[in-house]
Amino acid sequence: MTIETILPMPDIFSAKRILCIQPHYDDNDIAAAGILKQLKDWGTEIFYLTVTDDLMGVVDLSLSAEEAAAALKRDQLGAGEIIGVKQQAWLGYPDSGKYDYFDVRRDLLKYLRLVKPDFVFTPDPWLTYEGHRDHVQTGLAATEAVMFAGFTKIASSDADVDAAYEEHEINGVVYYHTREPNYIADISQTWDVKVAAVRCYQAQFNPVDMERLVMALEMKSRQVAQGSEFELGEPLKVLHPSALHCGI
Ligand SMILES: [Zn+2]
Repeated sequence: MTIETILPMPDIFSAKRILCIQPHYDDNDIAAAGILKQLKDWGTEIFYLTVTDDLMGVVDLSLSAEEAAAALKRDQLGAGEIIGVKQQAWLGYPDSGKYDYFDVRRDLLKYLRLVKPDFVFTPDPWLTYEGHRDHVQTGLAATEAVMFAGFTKIASSDADVDAAYEEHEINGVVYYHTREPNYIADISQTWDVKVAAVRCYQAQFNPVDMERLVMALEMKSRQVAQGSEFELGEPLKVLHPSALHCGI
């Protein structure tokens, strides 16, 4: 028996509103821009929430922190426009630095209660050999925030948002950067748009590394689509929120 036997995999295409919670500016797009663009064209509203300030990844070391932040934001807004992201928010925790897990969780609870998404996209925090703490913390905090969004005794970082919160059901969590996908999204039609969005992230990749990234993405997208009727895919783990506790 599998989790899916008890709790069928939620249908991503039933989503009206999706909140994509990422550790760094480029994670949503590198991992899931193909399916997100498809969902946007399907009529879904897409929101991005970025946990860290992403400053450690900026390749031009001559930039001041302000200039680097402006470059990152410019890149991300450009990519967001290509995908059709409705709104973006930033939490500004120090990239690869010291910050409190529960502070992040409180902020994520605030945005979940505010945005009221049907589905949440985030990195798989249980990805084996994931060495980046920002990814693990973000994925786990997003998972707990989904589980606890309806329990307003667990305070968010904004008491007004908690007071105004009305019950809302989140239908699914979609983990990207996962080794245990249960759904391979067909991104053959949106591949070019995905690459265009990824190429916006110039502050974080020099031209050579950008070409390597696009090549690696294409190889992986073809690999995960093997055996399917389509050529390019994005691997996702789609779970009902009730499947996120005690192995149910
Ligand atoms: Zn990242």
